[in-house]
Amino acid sequence: MDLTNKTILITGATDGIGKVLAEEFSKLGSNIILLGKNSSKLDKVYDQLENSFDSQKHLILEADLSLLNNESAHEILRAISNEYDALDGIIHNAAILGTMTPLEDYELSKWDEVLNINLRAPFLLTKTLKSIVENSTMPRIIFTSSGVANTGRAFWGAYSVSKFGLKGLAEIFTNELETTSSIKVFNFDPGATQTKMRASARPAEDPSSLKTPHELVNCYLWFFSRESCDSKVNYFEYDDLAKKVTST
Ligand code: NDP
Repeated sequence: MDLTNKTILITGATDGIGKVLAEEFSKLGSNIILLGKNSSKLDKVYDQLENSFDSQKHLILEADLSLLNNESAHEILRAISNEYDALDGIIHNAAILGTMTPLEDYELSKWDEVLNINLRAPFLLTKTLKSIVENSTMPRIIFTSSGVANTGRAFWGAYSVSKFGLKGLAEIFTNELETTSSIKVFNFDPGATQTKMRASARPAEDPSSLKTPHELVNCYLWFFSRESCDSKVNYFEYDDLAKKVTST
């Protein structure tokens, strides 16, 4: 798989899974567009990206996805278009957990923040960036699911609802685009992974019992492979995809 000079936007690229994907994809020659809300964390990740391939160039987009609107989404499109002719992939990775409380106690402002970051922003970014993604020869859009996207579980509140919604969003985009566009849409549940989000969801858990974000990299690479062009499935869970990737 040749990722040289592929341009990939990663939301939530300043920590956890997104940060590792940015670093690893840059080592393979991709141009990384880092989207995050914290400028000093963005600068630090940017400084760690590999930049050793000809014409490889990375870009920082500072944006708080809880506040994204039509205007700021179009600013993002302009910033990307000024630097690149095509966007080969979007990895919609940014999310927050919100609070782990019963629904009757859930603060409305937190509910809105979670839904804005985890669901509304991926919708608005996909819709706004679709035109430049279509300039790619092998375009990909990857949404990030979760184990609480399929069955409602007490106390997972807005986070769970946002991931249910994202499942619907990914399915609708898949269905709408499969006959009209070359964009392949995937929805991936990375499963329990050693990050700060997982630690706040399960504070009693021993993090060393979990896989690291690095163990996810081959799965994400598969989404950018030729093999995935023929996939009739749009939703994958880590265990299944990891097996598929190691057997090919
Ligand atoms: P982390 O909390 O480690 O990282 C989340 C990233 O999203 C950070 O870079 C964070 O920025 C960014 N982010 C948060 N809020 C905003 C915002 N308002 N605007 C822009 N960026 C923002 O999470 P993970 O790496 O664990 O999670 C990555 C994805 O994987 C998420 O979609 C999550 O739901 C999913 N997932 C994770 C699992 C796990 O076990 N870790 C399991 C299943 C799914 P900052 O650094 O500034 O906080």
